[in-house]
Amino acid sequence: MNTNEKGKLLVISGPSGAGKSTVIGRLMEMRDDVCFSVSVTTRPPRPGEVEGKDYFFVTPQHFQELADGGYLLENAEYVGNRYGTPRGYVEQRRLEGKSVILDIEVQGAGQIQKNCPDAVSVFILPPSGAELERRLRHRNTDSDEKIRERLLQAKRECAEAGKYGYIVVNDDPEAAAGQLDAILTAEKCRAADRLNLVTEVLIS
Ligand code: 5GP
Repeated sequence: MNTNEKGKLLVISGPSGAGKSTVIGRLMEMRDDVCFSVSVTTRPPRPGEVEGKDYFFVTPQHFQELADGGYLLENAEYVGNRYGTPRGYVEQRRLEGKSVILDIEVQGAGQIQKNCPDAVSVFILPPSGAELERRLRHRNTDSDEKIRERLLQAKRECAEAGKYGYIVVNDDPEAAAGQLDAILTAEKCRAADRLNLVTEVLIS
């Protein structure tokens, strides 16, 4: 049966140190019906980041124009920089049947939950505070004070996890990606989205 279904909007949040990008990368290898939405940001590129792959890097003025023109599905400020999701890409890919993954912070996720009630939201949680601290220390050479600041920010973000539809604990990226895969599959089988299939069976 050709289901001809619209793709899902999969919102993924989690603090730095939760391992979001690894889990998302793994999910994208596992499924060919998903794609990743590249965000627009005013943050300058970090070494190794590629325009159009990691982000679309824009000036604050250009960002404001995109926001004013309604070109962003959501946007938020995070640690002094602005981030937003291009609306056109998301809508186009969903119409083509692809589920679109957004890797966004909690304010933006809140806007999506409000404006797109059919969105699926998942919070990626590190397995423990101690493991979160270990990952944050491991990944950068910052001073102790900076690391403490990052840890506090990460914990503040984890405190919002209850606002999401699902929580996936990232002990092991392979297992976490497997859980995301299962969530997406289950969401695609929701009866409310498949009543047209029932009609098709009844009339054929
Ligand atoms: P980073 O600057 O480290 O790449 O990202 C910082 C935060 O911004 C991360 O939590 C990331 O999920 C979030 N982010 C990235 N793109 C977007 C976006 O388009 N919208 C929102 N609201 N957050 C985003």
